Amino acid sequence: MFTKKVGGITAIPSWFPKGAALLRDPSLNKGTAFTAAERDALGLRGLLPHHPNTQAEQVERVLENFRRKTSNLDKYVNLAALHDRNETLFFRIITDHPDEMMPIIYTPTVGLACQQYGHIFQRARGLFVSATDRHQVESVLRNWPERNVKMIVVTDGERILGLGDLGANGMGIPIGKLALYTAAAGVDPTQCLPVVLDVGTNNASLLDDPLYIGLHQKRLTGAPYDELVDEFIHAARHVFPGVIIQFEDFANHNAFRLLKKYRNSICTFNDDIQGTAAVALAGLLSALRVTGGKLADQRVLFLGAGEAATGIAELTAAAIKAEGQDLADARARCWLMDSQGLVVRSRANLAEHKLPFAHDHAPIADFITAIRTLKPTAIIGVAAVGGTFTQEVVEEMTRLNARPVVFALSNPTSKSECTAEQAYQWSGGRALFASGSPFDPVNYGGQTYVPRQGNNSYIFPGVGLGAIAVGAQRVTDEMFMAAARALAAQVSQADLDQGSLFPPLAKVRGVSAHIARAVAEVAFAQGHASVPQPEDLLAYVTEQMYDPTYPVFATD
Ligand code: NAD
Repeated sequence: MFTKKVGGITAIPSWFPKGAALLRDPSLNKGTAFTAAERDALGLRGLLPHHPNTQAEQVERVLENFRRKTSNLDKYVNLAALHDRNETLFFRIITDHPDEMMPIIYTPTVGLACQQYGHIFQRARGLFVSATDRHQVESVLRNWPERNVKMIVVTDGERILGLGDLGANGMGIPIGKLALYTAAAGVDPTQCLPVVLDVGTNNASLLDDPLYIGLHQKRLTGAPYDELVDEFIHAARHVFPGVIIQFEDFANHNAFRLLKKYRNSICTFNDDIQGTAAVALAGLLSALRVTGGKLADQRVLFLGAGEAATGIAELTAAAIKAEGQDLADARARCWLMDSQGLVVRSRANLAEHKLPFAHDHAPIADFITAIRTLKPTAIIGVAAVGGTFTQEVVEEMTRLNARPVVFALSNPTSKSECTAEQAYQWSGGRALFASGSPFDPVNYGGQTYVPRQGNNSYIFPGVGLGAIAVGAQRVTDEMFMAAARALAAQVSQADLDQGSLFPPLAKVRGVSAHIARAVAEVAFAQGHASVPQPEDLLAYVTEQMYDPTYPVFATD
């Protein structure tokens, strides 16, 4: 069988397209890298300029054009066009230049792209399952050209990053996430399927926009919504046996209950809840290597009480429990603050996901008072309200702690609770800082601090790779705990010395392999794997990683 996983000499399969059809197939196209002999064998003579290029030369050309663009949105469009024309080259570039490319294909630029999706739209990518497809979702899925799909990222577009309801424009998120599955963990792109459940939007400006790409109607709710989701889940599992379904950027009121509904019966996870939890826990574990403390001794105050906050709090509590504490005591180390103030037991009508962290305490209305009262060792911003870690907040944290942990995890950058520069300046260089969107290194007091992204992009690609590699039947919290520990273990002393709580992005593929191994180990231990256990799990997952190198075709 023809494989696009690695380069090497490959016989031309009988089904292979020829001529212009080949150049128009982004998954097979090599563009000017087709050799003279391949051009003859594949009916390409004359359809390409004479001089053949190596892939490295093509990379140089793409980078030259990419770097000439002055706006990030233009860079996004430029890369999307490459993705649509030559997939292998696209993945070569984003794999080899993660620091430069990730902020474009993912947060923060992907947020801007989603806001503008109907205006920058060039060619459809992914699958749009709309409310009008009710009772025929399976036939819609069968229109997808690949059969070996193993990873679906699906959104209904209701809570895109911290930007709210962007409806079908949210497609940019599954596309970006799946590109990272491939770039950061080597998941074969043919195994990846981005899906939008287009159930309408309540975003008035999109509904008024003739270029909006989705259903021009208010959101489907209640039973019809649930029935569409359910139909999609069943159809996806039927059409793509063994597929993992990652829920992405659903609003609170659906995210928690859908996860609860499906997590024990199908292979699924919610990255906003579970992936975020793992990356934040990894960051806390790295910070503890600097402060020397124990997780069980931390007091963590969250600004925000939604998917990210409660996911992180729950996994942190589980990790404390694993150190020997009672779960109730472990949860008591985590405090949540939402738009109504501190989440305390006396508050009426608290949402179910907040209840485990609603402790007995007098109400507190504002964040700075909560810090003064609860004396946290760590603050974690996940409320999607920019600038909320003020100078007063960071200074108070620094007064209370020799090395305060300050995680500004909200995305995109405009929603960041504070910048890296502010965190270091206001704490006199003492903050242990991480952020959801990237910030440049900061020079302060004669030292260069290199903040790294506390972003679930460090976690989900490796989790997906591990789960796919062993044919996992469930994705469990224990796998995310193992992923967090595996990620933290990849942070070197040199990283910590420069203020980095995460490894460099340049090493992300190796990091993902270690995470995949850890996840696979848990899958075997919990009886969720469906392949025989290999002796060397790291080698096993590494072997399965896609490498974006062109095949060379045997032509005689
Ligand atoms: P969410 O909608 O589930 O939760 C937001 C929470 O913030 C809600 O509890 C809300 O009550 C609270 N809130 C709103 N305004 C507030 C205010 N003024 N003060 C205090 N609390 C307030 O969203 P989420 O999924 O938890 O995501 C929140 C943010 O975290 C987003 O910006 C998202 O992009 C970001 N995030 C980052 C990562 C990462 O990897 N870094 C992962 C997931 C989410």
